[in-house]
Amino acid sequence: MKPRDRLRIAMQKSGRLTEPALDLLNRCGLTFRQSRDKLFCFGEGEPVDLLLVRDDDIPGLIAQGVCDLGIVGRNVLNEFKNGAGNGAASLTEWRPLGFGRCRLSVAVPQDMNYNGPEDLAGLRIATSYPALLGTWLREKGVDAGVITLAGSVEIAPKLGTADVICDLVQSGGTLVANQLRETDVLLESEAVLAGPETLPTDERGDMVELLLKRLDGVIQVRESRLLLLQTSRTSLEAVTRLLPGGPQPTLLPVAGQPDQLMLQALCAGEVSWRQLEEIKKAGAREMFVLPVEKMLA
Ligand code: ATP
Ligand code: ZN
Repeated sequence: MKPRDRLRIAMQKSGRLTEPALDLLNRCGLTFRQSRDKLFCFGEGEPVDLLLVRDDDIPGLIAQGVCDLGIVGRNVLNEFKNGAGNGAASLTEWRPLGFGRCRLSVAVPQDMNYNGPEDLAGLRIATSYPALLGTWLREKGVDAGVITLAGSVEIAPKLGTADVICDLVQSGGTLVANQLRETDVLLESEAVLAGPETLPTDERGDMVELLLKRLDGVIQVRESRLLLLQTSRTSLEAVTRLLPGGPQPTLLPVAGQPDQLMLQALCAGEVSWRQLEEIKKAGAREMFVLPVEKMLA
């Protein structure tokens, strides 16, 4: 393969993962010029380009070295790894990305008497994930028929082409609409940054490291809040005890008020009104909760 000096990331061309993946890359400071055929997006600032493809093709493109990284559901990545595609073993999850959450589950008709995986013996199970389902059935020691369908798995029992299904579930609404009941979770999934276990040793490897650092910052601050408040030195201990998690607060003097301190604390998650009221009762005032936009540790 021709050597490349620009990093290439595969992501879903159009679907559930497209918007959040682009948004995440934008937050990492990567912007792209959309090319006309929309298969390839040229990166404007950093040497990083996008390949826009069907999500199912992403693990293969990384395994073949056509792309260096990919943003794809763990379900698709693990199906590829379980199916032992070429180079599949060396694919790894570099980061979980916190969107596209769903689970791969077995679901049975609501009126079926189901007590556990052993009840699947001899049944026909429709799925788009034959490798993951096959592995799970083997682990459970269950001998069942696996029927591979590309889509509309949830209607297979009604059509009589299968007895039960193994499919992605998010809210469960689709299952209920098809008179199905979720029984076993095979995999908890979300979008992940996938890539080969060993990074390229050229400039692309350096770019991956830079991207990972920025991603960590973005993921960390996505939920972070900066809490600012004033407190007297006498209330400081009581106030500090109530601060929601995170690193040690920073204390600053308040000009002209030697008894007062300005406190600044990074909180790992949302700060609720209830928490603020409690902290206020302990002696704080002038409280602000600010979203964090960027962070570089
Ligand atoms: P493509 O044309 O790229 O093959 P697709 O129909 O396979 O598209 P989407 O339905 O957009 O893909 O789903 C992409 C990914 O979103 C899934 O692989 C999964 O990781 C995640 N996802 C989250 N919730 C759901 C859900 N309720 N149903 C299906 N996928 C979900
Ligand atoms: Zn797909």
